Amino acid sequence: MIVVENGTITGILDTSVNHMTDGNLIDLTGYTVLPGLIDAHTHVLFSQAADRDFAEHSMVTLTTENSALRVLRGSKRAKSYLDVGITSIKDLGNSGLFLDVALRNAIDEGTIIGPRIFASGPILSAPGGQIYGVVPKHQDLISEEYRIVRGVEDAELAVQEHVNQGVDLIKICADNLPNKTVLSLEEMQAIVKTAHAYGLKVTAHSVTDISARQAIHAGVDGIEHGFNVSDSTLTMMAENDVFLVPTENSSDYMELYSKLAGYGQDDDQWIERYSTAMSERLQKALKIGVTIIAGSDNYTEINVPRGVSSRDMFKAYYESGMAPMDILRAATYLSAKQLGKEGKLGVLKKGAKADIIAVKGDIGTKFYESMENVVFVMKDGQVFTSVE
Ligand SMILES: [Zn+2]
Repeated sequence: MIVVENGTITGILDTSVNHMTDGNLIDLTGYTVLPGLIDAHTHVLFSQAADRDFAEHSMVTLTTENSALRVLRGSKRAKSYLDVGITSIKDLGNSGLFLDVALRNAIDEGTIIGPRIFASGPILSAPGGQIYGVVPKHQDLISEEYRIVRGVEDAELAVQEHVNQGVDLIKICADNLPNKTVLSLEEMQAIVKTAHAYGLKVTAHSVTDISARQAIHAGVDGIEHGFNVSDSTLTMMAENDVFLVPTENSSDYMELYSKLAGYGQDDDQWIERYSTAMSERLQKALKIGVTIIAGSDNYTEINVPRGVSSRDMFKAYYESGMAPMDILRAATYLSAKQLGKEGKLGVLKKGAKADIIAVKGDIGTKFYESMENVVFVMKDGQVFTSVE
């Protein structure tokens, strides 16, 4: 029996004794009860059709989507995470000028319903951000989506601006391909030093191996994507306790994506290559001892609610040979630990926030089917989905 009072778990008791004196009893017998899940890489304020170009769509967003409309749309996407049992999300940029912080505050104060948000604010990046092909005259628009860093002193200032706006963590672009600019080692060191001084974690978008190495050398806490990290970089990550958030998708998802994007007939081949590469890297990372944190990075419209498309990460990790318990730890306990929320989130124990979900089915033998079958969702002691 899990006792919940004022949004917190105040006790876990022997079920053979009826401890109830007052309050509501929710019977979850027959289901598997888990801590609320955490998606460590989301972009709820950004949505792109599969057949659109990222840079082009970013410019359309910045010039045609009013911030108020963007937040309203984002709030619907955020809420959909609750429906699938994801009670906390880390929102990592592409969110205008701190619109993620505004959304977080609106949820925290109860104005709207949604998951607990850990907001990064604009991504700290080298000139151009991730929006390529923009002429000099319009580069200022990019500063409405990214915090462009111009030197070591400016790097420190950027972190302080973010602290002033109330972010929960710092996200940087160690590289920002296909823009060729990168943050220098010294800039990243300044960012990490300043962020850590304020008690904030730093996580780095990184696609190339060299940028991941530079970021790790600079002291970042995590690497996002890391598609091309080498074995020696993975070893560096394990030795320095740097986590990895793999953001690939399942083969089913990629097939659908490919169709929506209008790709050609030889899809099966590249999807297989993609899945094999992911699986090999994930297995290597696990073997080397890198902490894996679950994150979806799903911002593409595939005609389902965002929460539904994001839980595909469980399928992707499972397909890559990760054990169900390891996946669950990556989406609960370990993720919370990396947020500095150990004992508060991602666990069911006395003193933790009452973020509790229940799934139907056998997690051990029918893992993904069970994760698709969330029958109960509680966040902060408040019930959002309940068994009939
Ligand atoms: Zn992302």
